Amino acid sequence: MQNPKVSVVRLASYKNEELHKALKKSLTLIGGLENIIKPCSKVFVKINHLSPPSLPEKSIVTHPVFTSEVLCLLKELNLKITVGDDIQSKEKDGFFLSGYRKACNDLGIRLVNLKETGFREINCNGQVLKKTFISPLLLEADFVLNLPKLKTHSFTVFTGAVKNMFGIIPYGLRLNYHRQFTRVDVFSQMLVDIFSCAPPHLTIMDGIVAMEGEGPSTGNPRKVGVILASQDAVAVDAVASKIVGINPKNIDTTFNAHERGLGIGVIEKIEIAGEKIHDVAVRNFKHSAVATGIMRRKIPQSLYAHIQEHLILTPEVNKKKCTACMECIEICPRGAVKLDQDSARVNKTLCIHCMCCHEVCRFFAIKLKQRPLGRIVRASEVLYKKIMTLFG
Ligand code: SF4
Ligand code: SF4
Repeated sequence: MQNPKVSVVRLASYKNEELHKALKKSLTLIGGLENIIKPCSKVFVKINHLSPPSLPEKSIVTHPVFTSEVLCLLKELNLKITVGDDIQSKEKDGFFLSGYRKACNDLGIRLVNLKETGFREINCNGQVLKKTFISPLLLEADFVLNLPKLKTHSFTVFTGAVKNMFGIIPYGLRLNYHRQFTRVDVFSQMLVDIFSCAPPHLTIMDGIVAMEGEGPSTGNPRKVGVILASQDAVAVDAVASKIVGINPKNIDTTFNAHERGLGIGVIEKIEIAGEKIHDVAVRNFKHSAVATGIMRRKIPQSLYAHIQEHLILTPEVNKKKCTACMECIEICPRGAVKLDQDSARVNKTLCIHCMCCHEVCRFFAIKLKQRPLGRIVRASEVLYKKIMTLFG
């Protein structure tokens, strides 16, 4: 495999004009967007928009201004663009709070919560997954553009370009995999399996304000001040992790993807264009104490798996509200919903918790239920976060 090129461009803030220039520079350094994407292509843009929805200042999502400026560059090439992620939200529009709905509306670009268009079962032939379900929007795209956020992760240590593709499968299936693959190395193999099903053609990472500490959602924003771009997503992760002081060899997704020939995860084999790594490297960037500390390793795997089981939400039909419109039955990728005496009924043993039925029901007849232990665990997490905010 040829040595990939990763551009590293400095940028201190999300001011539109400067961002536009910096993005253009980062893409010029790797050959120019017009030489990477063919005109008139169908492009799917995978953002990192974690659930539940959050404000961009929290640094949980790829900043909407970052995405807007990337979209402006794409629009110059006359492409058919769809932006999306699979998100879970109590609000009717999960993209409202983050600013994504407005950003895409302003540009006249389609923004999709992936569960709205359902999922398709595909052969994966990975290390741990033989089959999985992914969004047809990715399968039908000519070009996949990956826009990850640079963040720490309390389980996988780091989340960037490879892990961002985890969002192309249904939400509930993600929870299922969390429960099923409790060892970080196996979980990372699974992430790389999914990545291999729809490898992005181009990755542009938002590392302007990253997240340190207990990412991907409860850490703190931290200025790193870089944009990274490459046609090799694995190389982007290797460079980004090096900038924040994590050895790429210690990130299972990077190591595994490199070993499988899905990209280059070894810094010495990557050509850096623009800023040198040591010039933009961040000192004292806080890594996840949970992922790198001893607590996680002390929790018996069997107990952890049991807790995960209780965190999963399961759809349940309210018979009084159900009009038997059949829409949930049609969208269910597992055939888990059937009509039973004039209302829909979910077969829980077949359900993969993708939440498509919940999303599609216009009559609010499907509620998502959590088991009692799951509710206690969630409440404890909230309490823990509050205490950490007060005394942390
Ligand atoms: S989509 Fe809602 S109303 Fe229609 S059959 Fe399913 S549960 Fe009933
Ligand atoms: S029942 Fe609903 S949540 Fe379960 S697999 Fe079918 S669509 Fe997905």
